[in-house]
Amino acid sequence: MTRSPADAPGLRRRFWETVPLNRMNAAEWEALCDGCGKCCLNKLEDADTGEVWFTRVACRLLDGETCRCGQYENRRAFVPDCVFLSPATLPDVAYWLPGTCAYKLLHDGQPLADWHPLVSGDPDSVHKAGISVRGWTVPEFEVPEEDWEDHIIEDL
Ligand code: SF4
Ligand code: SF4
Repeated sequence: MTRSPADAPGLRRRFWETVPLNRMNAAEWEALCDGCGKCCLNKLEDADTGEVWFTRVACRLLDGETCRCGQYENRRAFVPDCVFLSPATLPDVAYWLPGTCAYKLLHDGQPLADWHPLVSGDPDSVHKAGISVRGWTVPEFEVPEEDWEDHIIEDL
């Protein structure tokens, strides 16, 4: 039987309901990520309005099936502008994170969804619920940047 993600070492019981983001320990902060992979999609931003559109063109390091970064520990050696999400940076980047993102939800005072692995107890529930990017991204080395707007996703 697979252990629930919520029972991983270092996590306080249902910490996401009781511990403020800036009081979570490192294990809790990492466990908040549902593994959807959406934040690894390339985005287009209107410089005047700040409006953001996600595309299905994925970062070169994203594995389109596992929805995980292929070089998470060393990713900045390959992708220097990869955003480092922390309690300090979250307020500045929350505006473009997808509406399903656990960090954004808690930042906005919203609960985690039933399909979040911490809630469901199933690491694959984010994929089974159709929330992740599994199976529908295209690698950025296959699409020139000037064509990204042809791959905009209307609702993410
Ligand atoms: S969008 Fe949020 S929950 Fe999804 S992979 Fe990125 S940080 Fe994790
Ligand atoms: S470097 Fe890794 S974590 Fe950063 S956007 Fe790319 S795939 Fe995602």
